[in-house]
Amino acid sequence: MSKYDVAVIGSGPGGYVAAIRCAQLGLKTAIIEKYNTLGGTCLNVGCIPSKALLDSSHHYYDAKKHFTTHGIDVQGLEINFEQMITRKNEVVAQTSGGINYLMDKNKIDMFQGIGSFIDATHIKITKQDGSSEEIEASKTIIATGSKPSTLPFIELDKKRVITSTEALSLTEIPKHLIVIGGGVIGLELGSVYSRLGSQVSVIEYMPTITPGMDAMLSKELQKSLKKQGVKFFTSHKVTSVVNNGDEVVVTADNKKGIPTEFKGDYTLISVGRKPYTEGLGLENVGIKVTDRGQIETNEHLQTNVSNIYAIGDVVKGAMLAHKAEEEGTMVAELIAGQKPHIDYNLIPGVVYTWPEVACVGKTEEQLKEAGVNYKSGQFAMRALGRARASMDIDGQIKVLADAETDEILGVHMIGARAADMIAEAVIAMEFRASSEDIARSSHAHPTFTEAFKEACLAVNDRAIHS
Ligand code: FAD
Repeated sequence: MSKYDVAVIGSGPGGYVAAIRCAQLGLKTAIIEKYNTLGGTCLNVGCIPSKALLDSSHHYYDAKKHFTTHGIDVQGLEINFEQMITRKNEVVAQTSGGINYLMDKNKIDMFQGIGSFIDATHIKITKQDGSSEEIEASKTIIATGSKPSTLPFIELDKKRVITSTEALSLTEIPKHLIVIGGGVIGLELGSVYSRLGSQVSVIEYMPTITPGMDAMLSKELQKSLKKQGVKFFTSHKVTSVVNNGDEVVVTADNKKGIPTEFKGDYTLISVGRKPYTEGLGLENVGIKVTDRGQIETNEHLQTNVSNIYAIGDVVKGAMLAHKAEEEGTMVAELIAGQKPHIDYNLIPGVVYTWPEVACVGKTEEQLKEAGVNYKSGQFAMRALGRARASMDIDGQIKVLADAETDEILGVHMIGARAADMIAEAVIAMEFRASSEDIARSSHAHPTFTEAFKEACLAVNDRAIHS
């Protein structure tokens, strides 16, 4: 039987990063993945394929809506949806292949099959053909991720009533896509199909979309997507989803309790994701899970069985690839005897719609609730030269800083390239920068990043361009 210092179960961004960091630190490492391809949800049916389709649909939408204004006349613009999906599949295959390369490069042994605990140091790996093998590991990192959740009364047939996984591989563009859930995944995939010509109706239980984000972002994003043609039904509680074969009928009560019927050819259920622990054999080792199905861990991401750790979507916290990656690195370093640390307040959140939305730190609502004395600076994208040059004038940036010390406490952006721009705010906050630190740093002109500088200037009523 092969023996390892560390076995990692699951090859998503949490698992594969943990495996690489373990190997870098000189630990003999194995990675176990149930599917034939590495990379988990993120690479196969999450971050990467959704961004590939967002990019393709963005090109089409731009060509259709904005090229003429730029002085580019295009005749016979058409969508080849099959090719769009093929390209997406190629991007996924290349990226997943890259993980195989990294495993080889770092001399990590790969096992394909379902990993299941026999006891705290032995794992059985069951392959697709039913055969199995056993390995021994001094330490194990569980990184088994999550699966889409649904509502108890909804039957997912995965043809008409679908999850994000199917929405990434449809064979036709829906005529009317009903999206249940106005969170990140629903809005990104809703954007893809709206840009490609589908009528898209988003039904959200809460009064705002992207609940939990700063209210300014939710409001501005809804306004922008509405302008693009997406219809929103907030404060609507879905009560039934009836699948009639070619048509799906969704009924939702509005806030007065009056039922409204929505008829579409596809319904995307995007009401969140749930931790995935099926088949892991947690009961064989007595690992505790919370009532939400998350594996219980302490501040070192250690389970109640001291040589077994858990990271990523399967434990508490934001279900994000980069959060899983940070946790993978942290656990590997802890196992190697180091003392790493993650500041969860500084894990950024992003929505890859257009305009993009990105945030880090505290929202204004959180600061108010905590009674923090703060000041705020805002800057509208439309006042930015770079934004006007590219006609990306929707959006704004808000910076929240401590009223006394001026330390930046939260940054909330909506606008072109916000997903990339948020990195500057994360770094600033990691180094506990004040808004004046950013305001006094030179930002190349003309760039979108100048909007962050201007918002920081605005914190102290010094904005130049507004
Ligand atoms: P996962 O990526 O879910 O990987 C878990 C792996 O474990 C899977 O491959 C699974 O097959 C394997 N596994 C499970 N059980 C076993 C077992 N018993 N034995 C062996 N293998 C097992 N996040 C972002 O940060 N940015 C984005 O833009 C983004 N976009 C997304 C878009 C969509 C449509 C979706 C669905 C998600 C998106 N996410 C995004 C979320 C992101 O994909 C997850 O947060 C991330 O994948 C979690 O990583 P993980 O390593 O915890 O688990």
